[in-house]
Amino acid sequence: MIKHFFKKLGFSQAPFAGGIQPNMRKETEHSPIEVCPLPPLLIMPIKQHIGQACSPLVAVGDHVLRGQKIAKAEGYVSVPIHAPTSGQVIKIEDYAIPHPSGMGLTSIFIEPDGLDERDETLKPIEDWQHTDVSALRERVRMCGIAGLGGAAFPTFIKLVQDQRNPIETVILNGIECEPFLTNDHRLMVEHSQEIVLGMQIIMHMVGAKQGIIAIEDNKSDAIECMKKAVNHDDMGLDIQVLSLPTRYPQGSEKQLIEAITGKQVPMGKLPMHVGVLCQNIGTTHAIYEAVILGYPLTERVVTISGDAVPQQGNMLVRLGTSMRFIYAQRGLTDFDGLQILHGGPMMGERLRHPDIPVIKSSTGLLALSQDFFREAHPEEEPCIRCGHCSEACPIRLTPNLLADHCRNEQLEKAADYHLFDCIECGACSYVCPSHIPLVHYFRFGKGQAAQVRREQNFAEASRQRSEFRDTRIQREKDEKAAKRRKVRATHTPTEPNQGKE
Ligand code: SF4
Ligand code: SF4
Repeated sequence: MIKHFFKKLGFSQAPFAGGIQPNMRKETEHSPIEVCPLPPLLIMPIKQHIGQACSPLVAVGDHVLRGQKIAKAEGYVSVPIHAPTSGQVIKIEDYAIPHPSGMGLTSIFIEPDGLDERDETLKPIEDWQHTDVSALRERVRMCGIAGLGGAAFPTFIKLVQDQRNPIETVILNGIECEPFLTNDHRLMVEHSQEIVLGMQIIMHMVGAKQGIIAIEDNKSDAIECMKKAVNHDDMGLDIQVLSLPTRYPQGSEKQLIEAITGKQVPMGKLPMHVGVLCQNIGTTHAIYEAVILGYPLTERVVTISGDAVPQQGNMLVRLGTSMRFIYAQRGLTDFDGLQILHGGPMMGERLRHPDIPVIKSSTGLLALSQDFFREAHPEEEPCIRCGHCSEACPIRLTPNLLADHCRNEQLEKAADYHLFDCIECGACSYVCPSHIPLVHYFRFGKGQAAQVRREQNFAEASRQRSEFRDTRIQREKDEKAAKRRKVRATHTPTEPNQGKE
């Protein structure tokens, strides 16, 4: 496998299909992580992961401690939510979450008491090497860890030993190929030992023999720090740090696996089906804190960047902190005419205002001026069928045709053109000489398809309800008729001489 990687390095072509080299604008790469002060209010939405929303466990007026579970997971694909500090629950109601629609979700409002007292219920698991892997997995679930790279998939689900799909290799994803974002970069520079320990825990949990820490070559200080941390490791595990040529979207799971192992994860399959587990840097650090320190997930590192931010940088922020409060720490208070992005410019979401809390998937907060945004997104022109979008697509799709189908709401055709395999990386939009916002059409198409599915499900549920009702009415009618027949049979008088001659 490693041989494959070095062989790849010898070639000038991209190690995976498609891809681009955008201007990285990593202006915050040398900004050490600063601790963001506690805000006057913390707002915790009850869903900060992919999957089912949680149910609140607290009521207005309750006093909570930092790390106390305030909302319980519902269903399998779900993880609990914890109080980011000690204080009082003052409200539970709908509030805006980071989503382009500005939609709201039930949220728990906590007024900090300033003491920041921790709930000590969870104890450190010091002897994790001799602890049952199911107990470690449960710890990761209990601590509310969901992919901190932006995907927010509940992490414990991936940390499983499946005899049918044994994990041979754990890949730590230190690529961070989105422009502007440097939060993982800074974690690797400043917390390399904890990350390596987190990786050892992951390898132990899934039974992997080999670990690879993959970092793009534009982060030489992170590569150096991680190499030192790996060399310092005395556990004898096979962990290597690999430097990969910088290329977007290499941080995408399937592209990274292909770049390192040469293996392609088939469409509709998972990395585990090719014996690989990928884990994000921030998530691995959170696993370290959950197991070694007994800390649930209550904070994360966020990059605050963009040409409209006076003091760009990285901050350790409590979940639930308002974005407006965080921008203010970096000198930005007037948002008139600015574009605010949650996440990076390629895959992030444009937000309507900054009065939205930071959640588990908040990798970055960008604020871009109108000039910057206009330059990056000029007026759309007609497609000239140049094919550059297909060349850039890492999934080997034909984005121009796909966009046509989405624009015209030909959803079945869009599905035939593998709309749902698109990872929305935006590489096609980036290279398009006609400045067509292709990825917006894909999101629109997926949204329409989801709406159609919802309507079909609703119609199907109504049909089943109606069928069930008709069956019930018929059954009741039959039962009544049978009863009447029985009563008649019991009460019909017998003629005295009936049957006699
Ligand atoms: S890159 Fe743009 S102009 Fe060229 S084929 Fe694709 S959509 Fe059309
Ligand atoms: S956004 Fe979708 S279609 Fe465009 S390059 Fe990325 S994966 Fe391909």
